[in-house]
Amino acid sequence: MEHERIPWDQYFMAQSVLLSMRSTCSRLSVGATIVRDKRIIAGGYNGSVSGDVHCIDEGCYMVEGHCVRTIHAEMNAILQCAKFGVPTENAEIYVTHFPCLQCTKMILQAGIKKIHYLTDYRNDTYALDLIKRVGAEVHQVELSKKYFANLRFGEAELDLLPKDFLSEN
Ligand SMILES: [Zn+2]
Ligand SMILES: [Zn+2]
Repeated sequence: MEHERIPWDQYFMAQSVLLSMRSTCSRLSVGATIVRDKRIIAGGYNGSVSGDVHCIDEGCYMVEGHCVRTIHAEMNAILQCAKFGVPTENAEIYVTHFPCLQCTKMILQAGIKKIHYLTDYRNDTYALDLIKRVGAEVHQVELSKKYFANLRFGEAELDLLPKDFLSEN
């Protein structure tokens, strides 16, 4: 099998997909990876405040159609930077789902200049306007099977990524 190096976009987005598998909310599994100078500086998934119960154990805490228990993946990744004093200025973020308006505002205010997302998810038109207005970029990534065909976990031949996320290209 010929060896083809995995492109950065594929690599970082796959990292976000992996992170999404740590989600503790049963409604949606989201992962986010913050990258600066081609290095991962933080990651997050949607889940409860540390110390609180998990939706997957207790059920979601629903208010007006939304689970209010969880912190979104993007927010968790940004807060990880805040907690440990890691600058986010001019960074990029890879998220498995198009970010909600609140997360988009935080991403932009944190100085993150490029938002890569995997799947469309209630793409907010004001969020899209904001991204343009502040001079940031948005870019949809398509994960290609060919880069993950040789993935092996020890002896087991497992499919790493949820099928939905992979295109045939
Ligand atoms: Zn929940
Ligand atoms: Zn959000």
